[in-house]
Amino acid sequence: MGGTPDLSRLIYLDYAATTPVDPRVLDAMRPYFAERFGNPGSVHQFGQSARAAVDEARAAVAHLIGALPKEIVFTSGATEANNAAIFGAVYARGVPDRHVITAATEHHAVLEPCRWLEAHGVSVTVLPVDRHGIVDPDAVRRAIRPETVLVSVMHGNNEIGTLGPVAEIAAIAREHGVPFHTDATQSAGIVPIDVKALGVDLLSLSAHKRYGPKGIGALYVRTGVQIEPFQHGGSQERGRRGGTENVPAIVGFGEAARIALASMADEAARLAGLRERLSAGLAAIDGARLNGHPTRRLPGIVNASFAASDSESLLLALDLEGIAASSGSACTSGSLEPSHVIAALGVPPSFAAGTLRFSLGRWTTLEEIDAMLEALPRILATIRRAAAGRR
Ligand code: PMP
Repeated sequence: MGGTPDLSRLIYLDYAATTPVDPRVLDAMRPYFAERFGNPGSVHQFGQSARAAVDEARAAVAHLIGALPKEIVFTSGATEANNAAIFGAVYARGVPDRHVITAATEHHAVLEPCRWLEAHGVSVTVLPVDRHGIVDPDAVRRAIRPETVLVSVMHGNNEIGTLGPVAEIAAIAREHGVPFHTDATQSAGIVPIDVKALGVDLLSLSAHKRYGPKGIGALYVRTGVQIEPFQHGGSQERGRRGGTENVPAIVGFGEAARIALASMADEAARLAGLRERLSAGLAAIDGARLNGHPTRRLPGIVNASFAASDSESLLLALDLEGIAASSGSACTSGSLEPSHVIAALGVPPSFAAGTLRFSLGRWTTLEEIDAMLEALPRILATIRRAAAGRR
Protein backbone atom coordinates (compact mmCIF):
# COMPACT_ATOMS: atom_id res chain seq x y z
CA MET A 1 0.00 0.00 0.00
CA GLY A 2 1.31 3.45 -0.89
CA GLY A 3 -0.10 4.79 2.37
CA THR A 4 -0.67 8.37 3.40
CA PRO A 5 2.54 10.27 4.12
CA ASP A 6 2.99 11.47 7.71
CA LEU A 7 2.61 15.24 7.44
CA SER A 8 2.86 15.93 11.15
CA ARG A 9 6.62 16.51 11.14
CA LEU A 10 6.61 18.90 8.21
CA ILE A 11 6.80 22.68 8.47
CA TYR A 12 3.67 24.31 7.07
CA LEU A 13 4.20 27.91 5.97
CA ASP A 14 1.23 28.12 3.59
CA TYR A 15 -1.66 29.22 5.83
CA ALA A 16 -2.83 31.70 3.17
CA ALA A 17 -3.61 28.74 0.87
CA THR A 18 -5.63 26.99 3.54
CA THR A 19 -5.54 26.20 7.23
CA PRO A 20 -6.11 23.09 9.29
CA VAL A 21 -9.54 22.92 10.93
CA ASP A 22 -9.18 23.96 14.57
CA PRO A 23 -10.00 21.00 16.87
CA ARG A 24 -12.67 23.16 18.58
CA VAL A 25 -14.28 23.76 15.18
CA LEU A 26 -14.25 20.05 14.41
CA ASP A 27 -15.93 19.30 17.77
CA ALA A 28 -18.63 21.86 17.06
CA MET A 29 -19.31 20.39 13.61
CA ARG A 30 -19.37 16.71 14.54
CA PRO A 31 -22.98 16.39 15.79
CA TYR A 32 -24.34 17.95 12.60
CA PHE A 33 -23.26 15.14 10.30
CA ALA A 34 -25.31 12.30 11.74
CA GLU A 35 -27.14 13.01 15.01
CA ARG A 36 -28.41 16.50 14.19
CA PHE A 37 -28.71 15.92 10.49
CA GLY A 38 -32.04 17.70 9.94
CA ASN A 39 -32.87 20.03 7.07
CA PRO A 40 -33.19 23.58 8.47
CA GLY A 41 -36.26 24.02 6.26
CA SER A 42 -38.20 21.25 8.04
CA VAL A 43 -40.78 22.09 10.71
CA HIS A 44 -40.04 19.12 12.99
CA GLN A 45 -37.48 19.06 15.76
CA PHE A 46 -34.73 17.65 13.55
CA GLY A 47 -35.18 20.63 11.25
CA GLN A 48 -35.53 23.18 14.01
CA SER A 49 -32.37 22.01 15.76
CA ALA A 50 -30.45 22.49 12.50
CA ARG A 51 -32.16 25.86 11.93
CA ALA A 52 -31.09 27.05 15.40
CA ALA A 53 -27.49 26.02 14.69
CA VAL A 54 -27.46 27.87 11.35
CA ASP A 55 -28.94 30.98 12.99
CA GLU A 56 -26.31 30.92 15.71
CA ALA A 57 -23.49 30.53 13.19
CA ARG A 58 -24.91 33.35 11.08
CA ALA A 59 -24.89 35.61 14.13
CA ALA A 60 -21.26 34.69 14.88
CA VAL A 61 -20.08 35.37 11.32
CA ALA A 62 -22.02 38.66 11.29
CA HIS A 63 -20.49 39.65 14.63
CA LEU A 64 -16.96 39.06 13.28
CA ILE A 65 -17.41 41.86 10.74
CA GLY A 66 -19.92 44.11 12.55
CA ALA A 67 -22.84 43.12 10.29
CA LEU A 68 -26.43 42.13 11.04
CA PRO A 69 -27.19 38.38 10.78
CA LYS A 70 -29.68 39.01 7.97
CA GLU A 71 -26.90 40.66 5.95
CA ILE A 72 -24.92 37.37 5.76
CA VAL A 73 -25.50 35.01 2.83
CA PHE A 74 -23.71 31.67 3.16
CA THR A 75 -21.94 30.53 -0.01
CA SER A 76 -19.59 27.69 -0.96
CA GLY A 77 -16.56 29.92 -0.36
CA ALA A 78 -15.03 33.21 -1.35
CA THR A 79 -14.91 32.36 -5.06
CA GLU A 80 -18.68 32.04 -5.07
CA ALA A 81 -19.09 35.12 -2.85
CA ASN A 82 -16.97 37.20 -5.26
CA ASN A 83 -18.84 35.90 -8.30
CA ALA A 84 -22.16 36.53 -6.57
CA ALA A 85 -21.19 40.10 -5.69
CA ILE A 86 -19.88 40.95 -9.14
CA PHE A 87 -22.52 39.25 -11.29
CA GLY A 88 -25.23 40.16 -8.78
CA ALA A 89 -24.40 43.87 -8.83
CA VAL A 90 -24.14 44.04 -12.62
CA TYR A 91 -27.24 41.95 -13.35
CA ALA A 92 -29.31 43.94 -10.86
CA ARG A 93 -28.76 46.92 -13.13
CA GLY A 94 -28.98 45.17 -16.51
CA VAL A 95 -25.85 44.24 -18.45
CA PRO A 96 -25.81 46.59 -21.48
CA ASP A 97 -23.63 49.68 -21.23
CA ARG A 98 -22.39 48.89 -17.74
CA HIS A 99 -18.96 49.53 -16.27
CA VAL A 100 -17.03 47.83 -13.44
CA ILE A 101 -13.83 49.01 -11.75
CA THR A 102 -11.33 46.67 -10.13
CA ALA A 103 -7.57 46.44 -9.57
CA ALA A 104 -4.61 44.57 -11.04
CA THR A 105 -3.72 42.68 -7.85
CA GLU A 106 -7.14 41.15 -7.19
CA HIS A 107 -7.52 37.40 -6.79
CA HIS A 108 -8.54 35.46 -9.90
CA ALA A 109 -11.93 34.96 -8.24
CA VAL A 110 -12.52 38.69 -8.88
CA LEU A 111 -10.54 39.20 -12.09
CA GLU A 112 -12.02 36.23 -13.96
CA PRO A 113 -15.71 37.14 -13.41
CA CYS A 114 -14.79 40.67 -14.55
CA ARG A 115 -13.08 39.26 -17.65
CA TRP A 116 -16.13 37.13 -18.41
CA LEU A 117 -18.38 40.16 -18.15
CA GLU A 118 -16.00 42.10 -20.39
CA ALA A 119 -16.31 39.41 -23.05
CA HIS A 120 -20.09 39.82 -22.77
CA GLY A 121 -20.36 43.55 -23.23
CA VAL A 122 -19.52 45.07 -19.84
CA SER A 123 -16.70 47.55 -19.84
CA VAL A 124 -14.04 46.88 -17.18
CA THR A 125 -11.33 49.17 -15.82
CA VAL A 126 -8.45 47.37 -14.09
CA LEU A 127 -6.57 49.98 -12.07
CA PRO A 128 -2.81 49.72 -11.58
CA VAL A 129 -1.21 49.64 -8.12
CA ASP A 130 1.92 51.31 -6.76
CA ARG A 131 5.10 49.34 -6.02
CA HIS A 132 3.66 48.22 -2.66
CA GLY A 133 0.36 47.07 -4.14
CA ILE A 134 -1.78 50.06 -3.13
CA VAL A 135 -4.59 51.33 -5.39
CA ASP A 136 -4.72 55.13 -5.53
CA PRO A 137 -8.20 56.21 -4.31
CA ASP A 138 -8.01 59.22 -6.66
CA ALA A 139 -7.60 56.85 -9.60
CA VAL A 140 -10.87 55.21 -8.54
CA ARG A 141 -12.53 58.63 -8.44
CA ARG A 142 -11.26 59.42 -11.95
CA ALA A 143 -12.39 56.03 -13.32
CA ILE A 144 -16.01 56.30 -12.13
CA ARG A 145 -18.45 57.01 -14.95
CA PRO A 146 -22.22 57.45 -15.00
CA GLU A 147 -22.55 53.81 -16.12
CA THR A 148 -20.32 52.37 -13.33
CA VAL A 149 -22.27 49.75 -11.37
CA LEU A 150 -19.55 48.29 -9.13
CA VAL A 151 -16.13 49.02 -7.65
CA SER A 152 -14.32 45.94 -6.30
CA VAL A 153 -10.99 46.41 -4.49
CA MET A 154 -9.63 43.82 -2.09
CA HIS A 155 -9.05 44.31 1.63
CA GLY A 156 -5.91 42.21 2.18
CA ASN A 157 -3.84 40.78 -0.63
CA ASN A 158 -3.35 37.01 -0.59
CA GLU A 159 0.13 37.07 -2.13
CA ILE A 160 1.90 40.08 -0.66
CA GLY A 161 -0.24 40.84 2.41
CA THR A 162 -0.79 44.52 1.56
CA LEU A 163 -3.89 46.05 3.20
CA GLY A 164 -5.69 48.34 0.73
CA PRO A 165 -7.19 51.78 1.43
CA VAL A 166 -10.66 50.25 1.46
CA ALA A 167 -12.44 52.86 3.61
CA GLU A 168 -11.20 55.71 1.39
CA ILE A 169 -12.25 53.94 -1.79
CA ALA A 170 -15.62 52.92 -0.31
CA ALA A 171 -16.29 56.56 0.58
CA ILE A 172 -15.56 57.65 -3.00
CA ALA A 173 -17.85 54.95 -4.41
CA ARG A 174 -20.61 55.96 -2.01
CA GLU A 175 -20.24 59.65 -2.95
CA HIS A 176 -20.98 58.58 -6.52
CA GLY A 177 -23.78 56.16 -5.58
CA VAL A 178 -21.79 53.16 -6.84
CA PRO A 179 -21.92 49.86 -4.86
CA PHE A 180 -18.55 48.85 -3.40
CA HIS A 181 -17.32 45.28 -2.91
CA THR A 182 -14.22 44.10 -1.10
CA ASP A 183 -12.67 40.64 -0.97
CA ALA A 184 -11.71 40.17 2.69
CA THR A 185 -10.89 36.46 2.41
CA GLN A 186 -7.36 36.93 3.73
CA SER A 187 -8.05 39.58 6.32
CA ALA A 188 -11.39 38.87 8.04
CA GLY A 189 -10.65 37.27 11.40
CA ILE A 190 -7.00 38.30 11.17
CA VAL A 191 -7.36 42.08 11.48
CA PRO A 192 -10.44 43.89 12.84
CA ILE A 193 -13.09 44.54 10.20
CA ASP A 194 -16.23 46.57 10.76
CA VAL A 195 -18.33 46.77 7.62
CA LYS A 196 -20.14 49.86 8.87
CA ALA A 197 -16.93 51.75 9.68
CA LEU A 198 -15.40 50.65 6.36
CA GLY A 199 -18.53 51.74 4.50
CA VAL A 200 -18.61 48.71 2.22
CA ASP A 201 -21.74 47.35 0.56
CA LEU A 202 -20.54 43.83 -0.23
CA LEU A 203 -17.74 41.80 1.40
CA SER A 204 -16.50 38.26 0.75
CA LEU A 205 -15.30 35.78 3.36
CA SER A 206 -14.11 32.17 3.44
CA ALA A 207 -13.96 29.75 6.39
CA HIS A 208 -11.03 27.59 5.32
CA LYS A 209 -8.54 30.45 5.58
CA ARG A 210 -9.52 30.88 9.22
CA TYR A 211 -9.33 27.35 10.69
CA GLY A 212 -12.83 26.46 9.50
CA PRO A 213 -13.82 23.83 6.92
CA LYS A 214 -13.41 24.12 3.17
CA GLY A 215 -16.42 24.71 0.93
CA ILE A 216 -18.13 27.35 3.05
CA GLY A 217 -17.93 31.13 2.90
CA ALA A 218 -20.18 34.13 3.01
CA LEU A 219 -21.12 37.29 1.23
CA TYR A 220 -22.06 40.28 3.35
CA VAL A 221 -24.79 42.25 1.60
CA ARG A 222 -25.54 45.56 3.30
CA THR A 223 -29.24 46.10 3.97
CA GLY A 224 -30.74 48.00 1.04
CA VAL A 225 -28.09 46.98 -1.50
CA GLN A 226 -29.65 45.36 -4.56
CA ILE A 227 -27.97 42.34 -6.06
CA GLU A 228 -29.57 39.82 -8.37
CA PRO A 229 -29.97 36.39 -6.67
CA PHE A 230 -27.18 34.15 -7.80
CA GLN A 231 -28.52 30.66 -7.25
CA HIS A 232 -32.15 30.06 -8.04
CA GLY A 233 -34.11 27.33 -6.32
CA GLY A 234 -35.57 27.20 -2.82
CA SER A 235 -36.07 30.20 -0.59
CA GLN A 236 -32.97 29.57 1.54
CA GLU A 237 -30.74 32.55 2.38
CA ARG A 238 -33.73 34.88 1.92
CA GLY A 239 -34.07 33.73 -1.66
CA ARG A 240 -30.55 34.89 -2.50
CA ARG A 241 -29.05 31.40 -2.67
CA GLY A 242 -31.35 28.45 -3.06
CA GLY A 243 -30.26 25.01 -1.88
CA THR A 244 -30.27 23.08 1.40
CA GLU A 245 -27.79 24.69 3.76
CA ASN A 246 -24.45 22.95 4.38
CA VAL A 247 -25.22 22.76 8.10
CA PRO A 248 -22.02 21.13 9.47
CA ALA A 249 -19.85 23.53 7.47
CA ILE A 250 -21.93 26.54 8.50
CA VAL A 251 -21.65 25.50 12.16
CA GLY A 252 -17.88 25.14 11.70
CA PHE A 253 -17.65 28.56 10.11
CA GLY A 254 -19.57 30.06 13.04
CA GLU A 255 -17.24 28.47 15.59
CA ALA A 256 -14.18 29.53 13.57
CA ALA A 257 -15.52 33.11 13.51
CA ARG A 258 -16.09 33.08 17.29
CA ILE A 259 -12.55 31.82 17.94
CA ALA A 260 -11.05 34.32 15.47
CA LEU A 261 -12.80 37.25 17.15
CA ALA A 262 -11.76 36.16 20.64
CA SER A 263 -8.12 35.50 19.76
CA MET A 264 -7.52 38.10 17.04
CA ALA A 265 -5.46 40.65 18.99
CA ASP A 266 -3.13 38.10 20.64
CA GLU A 267 -2.77 36.05 17.49
CA ALA A 268 -1.99 39.07 15.30
CA ALA A 269 0.66 40.29 17.75
CA ARG A 270 2.30 36.87 17.90
CA LEU A 271 2.26 36.46 14.12
CA ALA A 272 3.63 39.96 13.55
CA GLY A 273 6.59 39.05 15.78
CA LEU A 274 7.29 35.91 13.75
CA ARG A 275 6.79 37.84 10.51
CA GLU A 276 9.38 40.45 11.54
CA ARG A 277 11.93 37.76 12.31
CA LEU A 278 11.22 36.04 9.01
CA SER A 279 11.33 39.28 7.02
CA ALA A 280 14.63 40.33 8.61
CA GLY A 281 16.14 36.91 7.89
CA LEU A 282 14.99 36.96 4.27
CA ALA A 283 16.14 40.54 3.69
CA ALA A 284 19.64 39.55 4.81
CA ILE A 285 19.91 36.93 2.05
CA ASP A 286 22.02 37.91 -0.93
CA GLY A 287 19.94 39.09 -3.90
CA ALA A 288 16.63 39.19 -2.01
CA ARG A 289 13.88 41.80 -2.01
CA LEU A 290 10.73 41.88 0.06
CA ASN A 291 7.41 42.54 -1.66
CA GLY A 292 4.35 44.28 -0.25
CA HIS A 293 3.74 47.36 1.84
CA PRO A 294 6.26 47.73 4.68
CA THR A 295 3.66 48.67 7.32
CA ARG A 296 0.12 48.43 5.91
CA ARG A 297 0.13 44.67 5.85
CA LEU A 298 -1.36 41.47 7.20
CA PRO A 299 0.54 39.97 10.13
CA GLY A 300 1.01 36.51 8.65
CA ILE A 301 2.13 36.94 5.03
CA VAL A 302 5.71 37.49 3.86
CA ASN A 303 6.60 37.61 0.16
CA ALA A 304 10.13 37.82 -1.19
CA SER A 305 11.81 37.58 -4.57
CA PHE A 306 15.28 36.13 -5.07
CA ALA A 307 17.49 37.07 -8.01
CA ALA A 308 18.90 34.32 -10.23
CA SER A 309 16.51 31.62 -9.07
CA ASP A 310 13.06 30.30 -9.90
CA SER A 311 10.06 29.67 -7.71
CA GLU A 312 9.47 26.11 -8.82
CA SER A 313 13.00 24.90 -8.01
CA LEU A 314 12.89 26.74 -4.69
CA LEU A 315 9.53 25.22 -3.73
CA LEU A 316 10.56 21.71 -4.72
CA ALA A 317 13.85 21.95 -2.80
CA LEU A 318 12.06 23.36 0.26
CA ASP A 319 9.51 20.56 0.05
CA LEU A 320 12.31 18.00 0.03
CA GLU A 321 13.49 19.55 3.31
CA GLY A 322 9.97 19.21 4.69
CA ILE A 323 9.01 22.88 4.33
CA ALA A 324 5.75 23.82 2.59
CA ALA A 325 5.63 27.31 1.08
CA SER A 326 4.09 28.82 -2.05
CA SER A 327 4.99 30.92 -5.04
CA GLY A 328 1.90 33.07 -4.47
CA SER A 329 -1.65 32.12 -5.09
CA ALA A 330 -2.18 28.35 -4.84
CA CYS A 331 -4.69 28.65 -7.66
CA THR A 332 -1.94 29.61 -10.11
CA SER A 333 0.91 27.49 -8.81
CA GLY A 334 2.09 24.89 -11.22
CA SER A 335 2.33 27.56 -13.90
CA LEU A 336 5.73 29.03 -14.61
CA GLU A 337 4.30 32.46 -15.41
CA PRO A 338 5.26 34.96 -12.72
CA SER A 339 2.24 35.95 -10.67
CA HIS A 340 0.08 38.81 -11.94
CA VAL A 341 0.38 40.42 -8.51
CA ILE A 342 4.18 40.52 -8.54
CA ALA A 343 4.10 41.74 -12.16
CA ALA A 344 1.70 44.56 -11.16
CA LEU A 345 4.19 45.79 -8.53
CA GLY A 346 6.79 46.28 -11.25
CA VAL A 347 9.24 43.77 -9.73
CA PRO A 348 11.99 43.24 -12.35
CA PRO A 349 11.56 39.88 -14.16
CA SER A 350 14.98 38.69 -12.96
CA PHE A 351 13.61 38.81 -9.40
CA ALA A 352 9.95 38.03 -10.12
CA ALA A 353 10.77 34.55 -11.43
CA GLY A 354 12.13 33.56 -8.01
CA THR A 355 9.26 34.65 -5.77
CA LEU A 356 8.13 32.85 -2.62
CA ARG A 357 5.22 33.46 -0.27
CA PHE A 358 5.46 32.31 3.33
CA SER A 359 2.24 32.50 5.30
CA LEU A 360 2.15 31.92 9.03
CA GLY A 361 -0.69 30.87 11.27
CA ARG A 362 -2.02 29.57 14.58
CA TRP A 363 0.50 26.75 14.93
CA THR A 364 3.62 28.34 13.40
CA THR A 365 6.56 28.36 15.82
CA LEU A 366 9.76 30.37 16.08
CA GLU A 367 11.71 27.14 15.60
CA GLU A 368 9.95 26.58 12.27
CA ILE A 369 10.84 30.08 11.08
CA ASP A 370 14.46 29.55 12.09
CA ALA A 371 14.58 26.16 10.37
CA MET A 372 13.31 27.78 7.17
CA LEU A 373 15.86 30.60 7.45
CA GLU A 374 18.60 28.02 7.87
CA ALA A 375 17.48 25.96 4.86
CA LEU A 376 16.72 28.67 2.31
CA PRO A 377 20.20 30.21 1.81
CA ARG A 378 21.63 26.72 1.30
CA ILE A 379 18.92 25.86 -1.22
CA LEU A 380 19.35 29.16 -3.03
CA ALA A 381 23.11 28.69 -3.30
CA THR A 382 22.63 25.24 -4.87
CA ILE A 383 20.04 26.52 -7.36
CA ARG A 384 22.16 29.52 -8.29
CA ARG A 385 25.25 27.35 -8.77
CA ALA A 386 23.31 24.99 -11.02
CA ALA A 387 21.88 27.91 -13.04
CA ALA A 388 25.35 29.48 -13.41
CA GLY A 389 26.71 26.10 -14.59
CA ARG A 390 24.06 25.99 -17.35
CA ARG A 391 25.05 29.41 -18.65
N1 PMP B 1 -9.99 35.61 -2.61
C1 PMP B 1 -8.80 35.56 -2.02
C2 PMP B 1 -8.09 36.84 -1.71
C3 PMP B 1 -8.21 34.33 -1.72
O1 PMP B 1 -7.01 34.28 -1.14
C4 PMP B 1 -8.90 33.15 -2.05
C5 PMP B 1 -8.30 31.78 -1.78
N2 PMP B 1 -7.08 31.55 -2.47
C6 PMP B 1 -10.15 33.25 -2.66
C7 PMP B 1 -10.67 34.49 -2.91
C8 PMP B 1 -10.95 32.02 -3.01
O2 PMP B 1 -11.49 31.48 -1.83
P1 PMP B 1 -12.21 30.06 -1.79
O3 PMP B 1 -11.12 29.06 -1.78
O4 PMP B 1 -12.98 30.08 -0.50
O5 PMP B 1 -13.11 29.97 -2.96
